[in-house]
Amino acid sequence: MSELRIYNSLHRQKEVFTPLHPGHVGMYVCGPTVSGESHLGHARPYITFDVVFRYLKYLGYKVRYVRNITDAGHFEEEGRAAEDKISKFAVLEKLEPMELVQKYTNLYHWAMLQFGCQEPSIEPTATGHIIEQIEMIKTIMEKGYAYEVDGSVYFDVKKYAANYDYGILSGRILEDMLETTRELEGQDDKHNKADFALWKKAPPEHLMRWPSPWGEGFPGWHIECSAMSAKYLGGQFDIHGGGMDLQFPHHECEIAQSEIAHGEMMARYWMHNNMITINGRKMGKAYNNTIKLTEMFTGSNPQLEKPYSPMTIRFFVLQTHYRGTLDFSNEALQAAEKGLQRLWAAYETLQKLTYSSNGEGINEELDNQVRTWCQECPEFMNDDFNTAKVLANLFELTPVINSLKGGQIKMHEISEDTFNGLQQTWKTYLVDILGIQQETVSGEDNKLDGVLQMLIEMRKEAKSRKDYATSDKIRNELLSIGVQLKDEKDGSVSYSLQ
Ligand code: ZN
Repeated sequence: MSELRIYNSLHRQKEVFTPLHPGHVGMYVCGPTVSGESHLGHARPYITFDVVFRYLKYLGYKVRYVRNITDAGHFEEEGRAAEDKISKFAVLEKLEPMELVQKYTNLYHWAMLQFGCQEPSIEPTATGHIIEQIEMIKTIMEKGYAYEVDGSVYFDVKKYAANYDYGILSGRILEDMLETTRELEGQDDKHNKADFALWKKAPPEHLMRWPSPWGEGFPGWHIECSAMSAKYLGGQFDIHGGGMDLQFPHHECEIAQSEIAHGEMMARYWMHNNMITINGRKMGKAYNNTIKLTEMFTGSNPQLEKPYSPMTIRFFVLQTHYRGTLDFSNEALQAAEKGLQRLWAAYETLQKLTYSSNGEGINEELDNQVRTWCQECPEFMNDDFNTAKVLANLFELTPVINSLKGGQIKMHEISEDTFNGLQQTWKTYLVDILGIQQETVSGEDNKLDGVLQMLIEMRKEAKSRKDYATSDKIRNELLSIGVQLKDEKDGSVSYSLQ
């Protein structure tokens, strides 16, 4: 089998993956800020890295996957005034900040469960690691790369850039950044515009605050990931992941802080998933087009024609390579929904089939083709986790499976080995690695399905005794309440709700 190759954003090329400690992988992925509900954009990184996590384990690695929860801190975004989102929203909702944090953490966990994402090995919170963050800031100050001004501590980017490669990940040059960064109100105490906060003094109205050597305050955003990854994975670890929007400033700042505190590049492979756009536009509050995950699942957003199930969204995400742009539209989601149904039906059919041969010769061409489509799946995953190509091959195999069931292709036309490989490939890639699973149906859906199956059976019985008046009545009555029956080629009957 070929080696796993990962596109390393740090060197802008694919590289053979070699872990620091043979057999073990340390992976850190920037988690959500739990100041509000997760939206569609959040689905992509967590589904992407869930597949990376699953595949590394499948390859036999012992993986420690750390994904944090940002539940405190000072947020600094490029070109925007800094604010502490958690405290701000907590006041608006008249809640204790930690109550708000808990509410959105629970919602996030629930959404991850719906998506079939496996739980990370460790899920540290920023508020649970204030001491580690303060210790790290102290180290950076001792080494001369941070300074205190009136209770706040800033990282000295200019000094760092003079001695290290600031911009190594994002490819940005300090001079450019200084040119484009606007003078922000209330940040005059920084020595340079490019400097970023490691610790912020808490104004009197600020709810979340902790004592520190510099007075009461709260940590900067970037420092939490540097402190928590070092605590659980070491000063240097294997994979650091996140969305492309985190490359700058977040990951660039993480690299600088960790370099000074630990004397090495924090992670060896940097992976970034591309963004989700909506009808070709960037998604965001500024565009008034964000869709919350709960809205996706229920269809309660004017941009949605209907609800989309979590598995449909997972499938939609994995149908595109993680570094490619992914454009959301109702058409694309509905196509994904149909595709998933087709694939899942083929998977269920395949698992029920058993091999039998009457001794007649195999069809070499078909046998080779099926074998090749299966053998390519690990090759595609090893080529920077190309889930899109794996799914394309499963689609190629779908008509073969359906024909094996329908009898258009006789079982003896492929070898027993090939058949076993086919069954194994679907189980391994579709279920174990891509994490596609049967949608969990609610109790109500179960009851409805039971009733409909009963009516389908009654119609079948009516047909078999040539009572077409009754069989037509059942079909037409169901149609009038929005249930369409469909006679399948293999003699079975399916239904769809309209
Ligand atoms: Zn982070």
